[in-house]
Amino acid sequence: MRESKKFKVPDELANLYEFANSLDLRHFIHHGVQHQQHDDLQGPRDLAAWMAERDLLRPGAKVSPEIFAAALSLREGVLAYLACAPDERRTSKTTLQALNTATRPFPLLAEASTEGIVLRPARDDASAGLAQIVAELQNAAAIGTLDRLKMCDAEECRRVFFDRSKPGTRRWCVSTLCGNRIKTRTYRERRHAG
Ligand SMILES: [Zn+2]
Repeated sequence: MRESKKFKVPDELANLYEFANSLDLRHFIHHGVQHQQHDDLQGPRDLAAWMAERDLLRPGAKVSPEIFAAALSLREGVLAYLACAPDERRTSKTTLQALNTATRPFPLLAEASTEGIVLRPARDDASAGLAQIVAELQNAAAIGTLDRLKMCDAEECRRVFFDRSKPGTRRWCVSTLCGNRIKTRTYRERRHAG
């Protein structure tokens, strides 16, 4: 089952969510087992497979080393952006610039269609599937759901999650895991300091 389905991430940003989480930086210990960090996108072939699984790769399209490198920069830009709190995302100039540089290789066109006016990839090579992710990013920002796509506050987690809470103030991907771990640690540190 796709992670986005498991965590009930809205379809309109499911690819964006999974793209951001294709780099798993979690390294906490859970039930005595250290979580292993992993990158799903270790080379052009991995990226091609990842995209094909999500219908983001046109038949016959090849992921070149250049497209692969641009994809990793895009992911880096997206992660840096999501690492900022929603209000910070509009004010941090370095983050905005980094994201703009990262999205540049993936141009979009406004296209009138039966679904209304939508952004479509301007190119038709393998980069189109990544441009589709950039379109999800723009669309989510426009309809306001992007503010709910956040990065877990726990340093040893940094998982991107979709905040489905009513006030939209969740800080941890899983409160009962990452939230509790941090709270227990803060409590212990305070007691130690006191
Ligand atoms: Zn977490």
